[in-house]
Amino acid sequence: MSGMEDVVAVLHHAFRWDCEICGRENFERAISMEKEYIEAKVDGKLDEDGDYVLYPAIVICKHCSAQYLASFQGLPDLEEEDN
Ligand SMILES: [Zn+2]
Repeated sequence: MSGMEDVVAVLHHAFRWDCEICGRENFERAISMEKEYIEAKVDGKLDEDGDYVLYPAIVICKHCSAQYLASFQGLPDLEEEDN
């Protein structure tokens, strides 16, 4: 070992995407939001505690500099798949 056993790597939410032009993988750091901030904006209460994150509107490939509008594809809803 390198003597780094006590050093902790802090992980952050991120979005992964593949460039359509060069085919390479990119990561965008998620924009974290405080639950209280979102509730103030939507004038309501959110159901669950947890981490709320946003993705950037535009992403740029770090390999070939291609620029895209961003779209998020969430995980499939397991309950709907049973139908
Ligand atoms: Zn690219």
